[in-house]
Amino acid sequence: MTQAVDLLAIAAHRDDVELTCGGTLAKAVQAGHRVGILDLTQGESGTRGDAATRAAEAERAAKVLGVTLRLNAGLADAYLQNDDPSRARLVELIRSTRPRVVILPFPIGRHPDHRVASELGRDACYLAGLAKYGPPGAEQPHRPFKVLYALAYREDPVKPSFVVDITDVFETKMSAIRCYASQFAGAKAAGEIHPTGQDLYELIRVQSAHYGSLIRARYGEPFFCYETIEVQDVVTLGVQSL
Ligand SMILES: [Zn+2]
Repeated sequence: MTQAVDLLAIAAHRDDVELTCGGTLAKAVQAGHRVGILDLTQGESGTRGDAATRAAEAERAAKVLGVTLRLNAGLADAYLQNDDPSRARLVELIRSTRPRVVILPFPIGRHPDHRVASELGRDACYLAGLAKYGPPGAEQPHRPFKVLYALAYREDPVKPSFVVDITDVFETKMSAIRCYASQFAGAKAAGEIHPTGQDLYELIRVQSAHYGSLIRARYGEPFFCYETIEVQDVVTLGVQSL
């Protein structure tokens, strides 16, 4: 059970989680939670860099964020499928890491891998809890309690269910992103981030500032979840209305 984490971020490519929820992961680490990252592919089909370079970069970024675990499912980059073998592989990794909360990519995206990762991740979270799913002698069933979707950079008319204030860890997020020099040095766009002509790092800062402004904070990361968020005491609610 040494691989067990409280929070697991699952995404298609190395660098995806840094871009969409790196601040949230760093903040969870600071709060004392065990945090893991599961990259589904090794980035062998990426236009920039190669799989070995990206592996080294991902290791450095994981250290910057302070996560305890970074796993790779070894699925095919640019060919991600929500099929039986892929679900079985994810179920195995979810059962071995036993997260309470899982962060997935948003179900809509430019890159087909991002969309598939979202659906594949959700299905695997469910299947991991089925006692009779998988080979005999497999790890104990485990179903994550909560599934969240990282909403950063999406332009679909979906309002975030909530925004995490990442002001205090924003430089940590940026340091983790800067580990991916093979992907981002001199880049004007990445993944779901469309180019505006300005430097990619500045673009990420501007976007993070926008999400932060939604909760009257300097920097934020937005999330969506299908369930309604529970509140126990309306008197302590944050974010000024008027
Ligand atoms: Zn990606």
